Amino acid sequence: MVTLEGTIYAPPDQLEATQTALAEHIALTRAESGCLSFEVLPNPDNPLAFQVKEAFIDAEAFAVHQARTGASYWGKLTRGFEREYQTHGLDQPVSLDESFMHLALKLADRAAETGEVPVGAVLIRDEQVIGEGYNQPISGLDPTAHAEIVALRQAALSRGNYRLPASTLYVTIEPCLMCVGALIHARVDHVVFGAREPKTGALLSHPCLDAYPSNHRFKVTSGVLGEVCGQRMSRFFAAKR
Ligand SMILES: [Zn+2]
Repeated sequence: MVTLEGTIYAPPDQLEATQTALAEHIALTRAESGCLSFEVLPNPDNPLAFQVKEAFIDAEAFAVHQARTGASYWGKLTRGFEREYQTHGLDQPVSLDESFMHLALKLADRAAETGEVPVGAVLIRDEQVIGEGYNQPISGLDPTAHAEIVALRQAALSRGNYRLPASTLYVTIEPCLMCVGALIHARVDHVVFGAREPKTGALLSHPCLDAYPSNHRFKVTSGVLGEVCGQRMSRFFAAKR
């Protein structure tokens, strides 16, 4: 993952043009396939300053973004602006966990587009996607239509088997009690999630596995692209308020 953080300063006579161009710049950048997250927020202490925080899946995606931005209206407008940016991770290759979580994040975005809480999940076996899902209980009129359950159903149907051993589920947010139960029934081998869910998370936030009388256990990994996955949730609920 490549991250960039810092501040860009608009000259007073360009402030209005900057504010106008910003919405399109944010939308275009978030739509880039390699963009994990992109935030530009006004600085409450300085009306001319904007805080930039962005993450891309790898150095190549970051370079594609830089090239596109440079040629865009935003790039031309802000070319001479003062900026203080710090970039990290340009020499780090993307891990398999991160690339699958990136797929789950893209699905979370589809949930957000339909007004559903942004959670996405992919089920992987032998490094292949065998099921994918995003949260859709409201549109589906289905209280069980969490991202994990949708992904499990799709995988079970495509494999012709209600059990999915040797599979790994990647989900952007810590699964709830219902989903943990379903993952046990499906015999999933490994659950990788991004951000913790302090209210309803049933793996680390409110651990329930040890109290459950099943002999199946799955491995748990947390925090893969955790900050980015958590940002999706906070952005969604901030927009609702
Ligand atoms: Zn759930």
